[in-house]
Amino acid sequence: MQPFTYNAPATRVIFGSGTRASLADEVRRLSCRRALLLSTAPQLGEADTLAADVGPLAAGVFAEAAMHTPVDVTARAVAQARALDADCVVALGGGSATGLGKAIALHTDLPQIVLPTTYAGSEATAILGQTEGGRKTTLRSARVQPEVIVYDVDLTLTLPPQQSAVSGLNAIAHAVEALYAHDRNPVTSLIAGEAIRRFAHSLPQLVAAPGDRDARSDALYAAWLCGCCLNAVSMGLHHKLCHTLGGMFDLPHAETHAVILPHAVAYNAPAAADAMQRIALALGATDASAGLFDLANGLGAPTSLAALGLQPPDIDRAAAAAAETPYTNPRPLSVLALRALLDDALQGVRPI
Ligand code: NAD
Repeated sequence: MQPFTYNAPATRVIFGSGTRASLADEVRRLSCRRALLLSTAPQLGEADTLAADVGPLAAGVFAEAAMHTPVDVTARAVAQARALDADCVVALGGGSATGLGKAIALHTDLPQIVLPTTYAGSEATAILGQTEGGRKTTLRSARVQPEVIVYDVDLTLTLPPQQSAVSGLNAIAHAVEALYAHDRNPVTSLIAGEAIRRFAHSLPQLVAAPGDRDARSDALYAAWLCGCCLNAVSMGLHHKLCHTLGGMFDLPHAETHAVILPHAVAYNAPAAADAMQRIALALGATDASAGLFDLANGLGAPTSLAALGLQPPDIDRAAAAAAETPYTNPRPLSVLALRALLDDALQGVRPI
């Protein structure tokens, strides 16, 4: 028997094509009348269209969402929500717009509806990462868990192929680490295997044909599953390394995940045999880490930290920092072994 604890969030999920047409109904279903729409600046056009679609239910549009949720942007958005007497927020976009909606909810308790347009998966979590003065902090609170997710595959068709690839690999990392999490459970493991399988099939298809609705739909479904994994269990070495590298060297978020994942998995392989078997099976590969490397390589995603701008002398600092206050991980961390892992990742060596 494997004893476990499983918490399921009370989120309403609508999935399909053209589902954004249900937004007005969803706003009314929350007993709301004045929605503040949120987006990044490049997605202002889509946010304006959505606002026009819901007519008088839209109180306004705030299009300043930015990567890693800067607190000064949140302060301006909260002020606008209060000035407009908004009674809910609607985030249209990737993790940046979703993060802003969560941050507003944290301050105001306004209910959130999210229409995701990337594979980040933030819409499915009660996690919020925020930055202030260049420092990122992360919190977990039921207050930031979105109430409604409206997945509309049509909104993802414009996500460029390379961005789709790294966004998908970033999501796969949540499912992979869920499979060897110390607090894993059978439900999350089932979800994680299916998420990896769907992404492994759909990402090559949609990179080759970005307008392929079936592949896009599979990837969006997989992204939700990956977000559910991230929400349900603890992340390990891979996430620790990515947060360390991102924070210390300002490396790009999703690309860093894409490079590190095969190496973090190779590191943990001797201590997580069952997870390795499940990952390999889901990928249709003989080895989990090599399979992940080949998937990223085949998608044209970056496979070396050098390609992201990391220099050889940075490795020692990164290894030492990653070994400090480690996340719970199946294989214990040693600075020497982490240094070897990062050296392989720097050079883009295929594991095994
Ligand atoms: P993002 O939301 O910043 O989007 C990246 C860029 O792509 C933006 O300029 C955006 O306007 C554009 N874009 C988004 N969707 C598009 C589409 N369909 N077509 C064309 N352009 C589109 O990036 P992201 O990768 O989605 O999210 C990254 C952020 O999310 C990070 O801050 C990360 O820390 C956070 N995140 C949080 C969680 C969580 O659970 N809290 C989970 C995953 C990621």
